[in-house]
Amino acid sequence: MDIKTVHKAKCHCGTVVLELTMPNGLEDPRRCSCSMCRKRGAIAASILLENLKIIEGEENLTLYQFNTMTAKHYFCKTCGIYTHHQRRSNPHQFAINVACLEGINPYDLEPVKIYDGIHHPSDTINL
Ligand SMILES: [Zn+2]
Repeated sequence: MDIKTVHKAKCHCGTVVLELTMPNGLEDPRRCSCSMCRKRGAIAASILLENLKIIEGEENLTLYQFNTMTAKHYFCKTCGIYTHHQRRSNPHQFAINVACLEGINPYDLEPVKIYDGIHHPSDTINL
């Protein structure tokens, strides 16, 4: 899998273009069992906030939040493709939709580990 140190990612219609700096390649690719990810179905990988730049189409991104309203899920309002989200478990990171990376076939990553998002640490703190 040819992950460049600076790799472009696009939504399906091409309006939203991200520039990703990934000195360590794809970090922690996974699927997740939380209520959002299980419906979305995307393989996500982690990236530091400062390593993701929206170089085109920022105005075309829509923000979706739910439950604790901590994570920020972004998708293209034209084609509906999820591009990235700011993580709840580590707000210093985004997660990116691996399938948006140019030239990358997400099926080449299978089998991908399943992250236990349904038992999220932020949901299991005893009050
Ligand atoms: Zn789009």
